[in-house]
Amino acid sequence: MVSTLLTIVSIMRVHGNNVEGAVRKAVREAGGLDGIIGEDSTVLVKPNLVSPMESGSGKITDAKVTEAVVRIVKELGAGRVVIGEGAAVGYDFPGIRDTSEAFRVSGTERVARECGVELVDMNKDKPVEVELPDAYVMKRFRVARTALEADVIISVPVLKTHNRTAITCGLKNMKGVLPGLEKRMSHRCGLDRAIVDLNSVVGPDFTVVDATSCMEGTWEAHKDRVDLGLVVAGIDTVAVDTVCSRIIGLDPAMVFHLQLAEEKGLGTTDMSQIEVRGSRIEDVSRRFKPFSEVFKSRFGMVNLVEKNTCTGCMGEIYSTFIYLREAGYENELGGLTVIMGTPEDVKDVKGVPLVVGKCANPKRELGVFVPGCPPHGIAITEKACQVLGVDWKKVHNTIEELHASPSG
Ligand code: SF4
Repeated sequence: MVSTLLTIVSIMRVHGNNVEGAVRKAVREAGGLDGIIGEDSTVLVKPNLVSPMESGSGKITDAKVTEAVVRIVKELGAGRVVIGEGAAVGYDFPGIRDTSEAFRVSGTERVARECGVELVDMNKDKPVEVELPDAYVMKRFRVARTALEADVIISVPVLKTHNRTAITCGLKNMKGVLPGLEKRMSHRCGLDRAIVDLNSVVGPDFTVVDATSCMEGTWEAHKDRVDLGLVVAGIDTVAVDTVCSRIIGLDPAMVFHLQLAEEKGLGTTDMSQIEVRGSRIEDVSRRFKPFSEVFKSRFGMVNLVEKNTCTGCMGEIYSTFIYLREAGYENELGGLTVIMGTPEDVKDVKGVPLVVGKCANPKRELGVFVPGCPPHGIAITEKACQVLGVDWKKVHNTIEELHASPSG
C-alpha cells in the first residue's frame, strides 16, 4: 500500500490534440487545485515566454497549456487571475524589445483576452524589495509586485535542457518574476543558487509542465525540438522537476539547483518519496542532448573563450553563428575567436578576437568589443563580419530573410 505521505507527480500523455484534457487529468491526478485556490484568491499563472516564439516551437510554454490551467483556476472561482511573465535579458526594453511581443506571438495574449484574465509584463511591473537573510547568494533583491502579492502561484514551464543549469523547468521558470537588473545579477552570482533563493521567496504552489513540445541542445528553432506529448504536474516543484529530469535522461543528482532546493527544504528529489501516477517514467523517457554536445557538433570550429557566460550572451552569439552559417560563411567561422563572460586566461587566439558583452569589458583591448548586456545578436554579427572580413550586406540580407520566415 502506498503511503499518503508520498508527494504525487502525475505524467499524462496528450491524446490527439486534446491538450486541455491532458492538463485536467494531470492536475486532478496530482491532487487537484481545489484545496489551494479559494474564492477570493489572487492567482498568478506563470508560463515560460523567454522570447517571442510561436506555441508548439518547444521553446516557450504552449498557449494551450496556459489556457487549460487558466480555465481550471477560473472554474474554482479565483477572485483575480493573472498571466504574468517577464521575458529574458535582452527583452526588457519597453516598447523596443519586450515581453508584449512574446505574449502576442505565442498566442498567450489571445488566451488572456478570451478567458477574461489580466496579462502582466513582469519586467514592467512595480518591483518590491525583499530580504532573505539565509540566502545562498541573493540576500536582498527585487521581485515583481504581482508575484509577491499573489496568494497562489502556478508555474507552467516548458521542459528544456539549459546551458547553465542542465534543465529548465518549474523552479527556474520563476526567474521571469525578477526585474531585468536582478535577472542579470542572478546569472553573475551563480544561477543555481539564485534560483533557489528566488523560490524561497516566491516558490510555486503548484506546477504544470508543458512537455508536449520541448527543446534539447541549443534551442535552435525546430532543429532541437522534441515532441514528447506529455503534461507533468504536482504540488512539489522539486519533485516535479526531478521526475522531468529523469524523463529527459538526466540524473537529478547532477542538477545543482535541485540538490540545493532539497537542502533548503523546498521539496524532494528522493524517488522513494515520490509517487508517480499516470504513465511510468521508463515508458515515456527519452534522452535529451545537452547544450554542450549540440553546440560543439554545430559550431566546434569557433574558438570560444568563455567563463560564467549567461544565457543572454550565449543566446545572442549562437544567433550570430547561425546568421553567418546561413549566409554561407560556415568555413570562415573556423577563423573566429570569441571572448565572453569572465575568462581568466585567453589562449589560442585566431585573428582579431570578438569581445562580447559587458562582463568581458576588462578584455576589450584584446580585440573588437561589442558592448551591451547582452549585446544584440545583429550588432555582434556586424562586428563578426568586420573581424572575419566577410560581406556584412550579404549577411544582413540573410538575417532579414530568416526573420521574415514563419519560424524566424
Ligand atoms: S554581459 Fe552577457 S554574460 Fe554578462 S550578464 Fe550580460 S548577458 Fe550575461
